[in-house]
Amino acid sequence: MSRVCIVCASTSSSRFKARGRFEVRRCDGCGLRFLSPQPTAAELDELYGESYFQRAEPGAPGYDEYLKEIGQLRAMFDHRVSLLESLVGGRRLLDVGAAAGLFVERARQRGWDASGVEPSQWASAQARERFGQPVATGILRDLQLPDGQLDVVTMWEVIEHLPEPLEELREIRRVLSAGGHLTLSTPDAGALVSRSLGSRWPGWGKVPEHLWFFDKKSLRALLSRAGFEVVTVKYVPLIVSVGYFLDRVSEVTKFPLGRFAPSALKSRSIRVNPLFDLFIVARAV
Ligand SMILES: [Zn+2]
Repeated sequence: MSRVCIVCASTSSSRFKARGRFEVRRCDGCGLRFLSPQPTAAELDELYGESYFQRAEPGAPGYDEYLKEIGQLRAMFDHRVSLLESLVGGRRLLDVGAAAGLFVERARQRGWDASGVEPSQWASAQARERFGQPVATGILRDLQLPDGQLDVVTMWEVIEHLPEPLEELREIRRVLSAGGHLTLSTPDAGALVSRSLGSRWPGWGKVPEHLWFFDKKSLRALLSRAGFEVVTVKYVPLIVSVGYFLDRVSEVTKFPLGRFAPSALKSRSIRVNPLFDLFIVARAV
């Protein structure tokens, strides 16, 4: 089945990599890689149920235990709040795909008028009940915000999950004030590490949760279609436990490095920049 490319409107694509009943296809027009077929609404509901943030089986989609790395997540979000402070004006912020509200928490602690929206019932309830953060259950459109309501929208590792990213970006453009900013992060399918690992890049394995595998060029084009001008592109560091980091490296090397590291070491935090987590700031034009 052919579909119209969200970036260049081509209807022609070729198989890049097969995975189970899904395949990653490559647009013949612009090179954007995307999942085919796209999961149904019912499959997505099932995927993002309670187990997504605390999966029982290694290798299943989602996170082993999202809040296990809470100290590292807070440190990473503190770093992102500090990046925003030097790049954008205005303090009315909405975090789309806010998970358990930790970015909202860090932003509010630094004086931002921040809130969030998150489709996962479990994660949004954690945000409200455990962390006391204003995170609504649902998606951006459910909030029915008036035009020009916000100065900043953030989306951390979210856009690659959205069935209709162009429509979502246009909705974000609508609710941003003139000159407001969208800030997002997503894995870069065109990064050096992704290109050098080729089809072994673990990023291709995030199926069926990742529907799009963007790079700098395709994101720039998509943002432009939605009424944004990119002002900053960089790679942001990950702050994770040594154990988490070793697990990710093991996925690539197929060698269980973590088994040989003492647990005192594995619980320590490290800051690493693998130069694949794209951080983009775009201004509403
Ligand atoms: Zn295309």
